[in-house]
Amino acid sequence: MKVALITGVGQVELRDEPDPTPGPDQVVVEVAACGICTFERRLFAGDKQWYPVAPGHEAAGTIVAVGSAVDGLDGSPQVGDRVTMDLLTRCLTCRQCRRGKTALCRYRQGRVLSDGTVSFGGFSDTIAINAKSTYDIGDAPMTHAAMGEPIACCVHSLRRGEFGPGDRVAIIGGGLMGRIHMALCRVGGASSIGVIDISTERLEEAKAMGADWVATPDDAPTVGGKQDVIFVTAMGGVDLAVEMADLGANVVLYSAFDKALPATVGADKSHREEVDIVGAFSQEPADWQLTAAYIRSGIIADDLDKLITARYPFSQIGDALTLVTSEPTYRVFVEPEHG
Ligand SMILES: [Zn+2]
Ligand SMILES: [Zn+2]
Repeated sequence: MKVALITGVGQVELRDEPDPTPGPDQVVVEVAACGICTFERRLFAGDKQWYPVAPGHEAAGTIVAVGSAVDGLDGSPQVGDRVTMDLLTRCLTCRQCRRGKTALCRYRQGRVLSDGTVSFGGFSDTIAINAKSTYDIGDAPMTHAAMGEPIACCVHSLRRGEFGPGDRVAIIGGGLMGRIHMALCRVGGASSIGVIDISTERLEEAKAMGADWVATPDDAPTVGGKQDVIFVTAMGGVDLAVEMADLGANVVLYSAFDKALPATVGADKSHREEVDIVGAFSQEPADWQLTAAYIRSGIIADDLDKLITARYPFSQIGDALTLVTSEPTYRVFVEPEHG
């Protein structure tokens, strides 16, 4: 099998590794597509210096082998199943895992290459993975399935924000994550959805994809008015979100933020208006069931199509990484070929 490692700033290397065989609880998946996320972009750009590492955590593919302990179980994955994959592993034993907050597990059971290099699994043409971490996607496109991880993160975010049918929603940040939030809120029955961004291009694209209103941060309170759930998917805009919060609203801090940035709501406002600020980090197994259902059904297929910026053969992964580090993109995919 082939694996891609990021070995330094702007450096990627393809390496041959032994073909994986499934452990008793595992399946082997031939990877069809893997998306490039912020994590990989930061590694390649040198914003996060951790070398060498084999990243890639947004992958989908087809099952080609099934382990002995899960083979033939009713409902378990079978050879030929097309799946999206939860590549993050959780210990299921630590305090946070026992409380059900497995996204916060700090004892992830990572995989390693033959020389001990940490591998996330996605930047490879084949992967062995726990059967329970694969989710059937039917006939959906593999690029859509490879967006399973970001979709699951957004499903988690909607849960954290207690989003419900009829809610008025504002989304700060019109990038990939903002657009997935928009799609999920629409199918979830939002009564209105607004997108706030500094980029007029992104606002136009959000409008074309069905946003009820779009606005720059300065105009947003006037244009959008009060909201029930405000998702902050940009690196700023927390104060704007609190300003737009109606009685009983939730502000969800989805993005990563500068560590020094405070997120405040007045104590009396919190008491009298029940305005809550909550964080949303990563995803949990429960988020994947809904994610796979969305992908399988095609109900957000048009939204996902619009988020595919480019597709590269796996052998041209260097070009794919160069693209995401040189201009704004939604999602760029690498696609292993299988003979
Ligand atoms: Zn990701
Ligand atoms: Zn844990």
